[in-house]
Amino acid sequence: MPALLELTAEAVTIPMQSPFESARRRSTEAENVHVRVRLADGTEGRGEASPAPYVTGEDVAAVVEAVPVAAAALRGLDAARVGQWSTALAEALPRHPTARSAVEMALLDALTRAWGVPLWVYFGGARTEVRTDLTIPIASPGLAGRLAAAAADQGYRALKIKVGGPDLDEDHARVLAVAAAAPHASIRLDANQAFDAPQALAFVRTCLARGVAVEIIEQPVPADDWEGLAAVTRESPVPVIADETVIDAAAALRVAATGAAHGVNIKVAKAGLLGALRIVTIARAASLKLMLGCMLETTLGMSASLALACGAGCFDYLDLDAHTLIGQQPNGVPFHQDGERLWVRESAPGLGFDR
Ligand SMILES: [Mg+2]
Repeated sequence: MPALLELTAEAVTIPMQSPFESARRRSTEAENVHVRVRLADGTEGRGEASPAPYVTGEDVAAVVEAVPVAAAALRGLDAARVGQWSTALAEALPRHPTARSAVEMALLDALTRAWGVPLWVYFGGARTEVRTDLTIPIASPGLAGRLAAAAADQGYRALKIKVGGPDLDEDHARVLAVAAAAPHASIRLDANQAFDAPQALAFVRTCLARGVAVEIIEQPVPADDWEGLAAVTRESPVPVIADETVIDAAAALRVAATGAAHGVNIKVAKAGLLGALRIVTIARAASLKLMLGCMLETTLGMSASLALACGAGCFDYLDLDAHTLIGQQPNGVPFHQDGERLWVRESAPGLGFDR
């Protein structure tokens, strides 16, 4: 099989359609890195990194600087020997999970393109279609309600609301406005580490008492507050999903062993595609709920997450919406979408792009 010849990175800045705010950051543009790989037979592959410094410690500059290190470590290795190059990649970049994820994505794209195999088939081919939620950012209740009504019109049946903003009353008002505007939607809450355990429990209970169909709460407490996370999980009336707390398989194993959460939110930008598969295995063995989320990827990075979601076919909750919040996409359409429905281009090799 073809050897790896060339690996390059390019920083890209893509405006968001409107500012996107969570408890941890306010984004007006996606600052990503696009990675290209070329194999000795000429096959090319693409990957995308969407670094979130508050999650992995990497920014765009760190990812751009890391890719040549990976290139030097991987040059000449056989693209088909995934177990060999992925080990070399982990050794070359032990503290750059998001950079690794983009290199891995590009290599798996190139490899499966060289084979003529779609990536979603490589990952198991469990299904061809999934449905995602849509995220409502920290915004005024009025705007949040309008966004929710528009999403309901498009057919979204699950909405994820960012909470943990500067004003707790406004958090509640935002949730109520979304629930009123989309009365049939199930509501997912994401606090992005903003609460302590009593605050999180009080927030969920108040929402439920006001008739809001809360389905889950994601990352209620700071990432390193394992005690607090476990305390919320023990008493929460809805499943608690760990996101920032779980950036790799070891953390997922700790959740499984301690019962600190009911489930984990996997992201390609945290664990990479191969690391995500390891977390899937741990979570399924431990009967943890599985969520697949995203950072601020365009359709390029999202196509990898969709391949994983369809290939593995085992996610309870999907939050693959960032590309719909970003104005400009890379050339080519790697998958299909109609509102909440996402489906793969069934026979397109690799990530699904034509070239
Ligand atoms: Mg989250």
